[in-house]
Amino acid sequence: MPHVVTDNCQRCRFTDCVTHCPVQCFHADDERVYIDPEVCIDCSACVPICPVQAIYDSLDLPDAYAHELVINAQRSHLLPVISAHLPPLPTAESRRAELGL
Ligand code: SF4
Repeated sequence: MPHVVTDNCQRCRFTDCVTHCPVQCFHADDERVYIDPEVCIDCSACVPICPVQAIYDSLDLPDAYAHELVINAQRSHLLPVISAHLPPLPTAESRRAELGL
């Protein structure tokens, strides 16, 4: 089962995760990142790296985030691969504070 990015990433997009992924399965738009479930090898390297705890193994995915399985699959196939770190979005720190992290 693949790993999944949740909407904790929304308005953050710290992208620390993408430099730890051995198979380049992250894709990004202007607001967040997504994991391609067909490429993810479930190594979990990205999970502890995320400053806003946005990434889950799909086996541990809370029910509230179940819809993210489809969102990650669909969006990752429409967006370019991102493998280099980007500056966090201007809203990243306020979003992290909002999440209590
Ligand atoms: Fe990449 Fe591993 Fe995270 Fe999958 S679990 S997105 S392969 S770092």
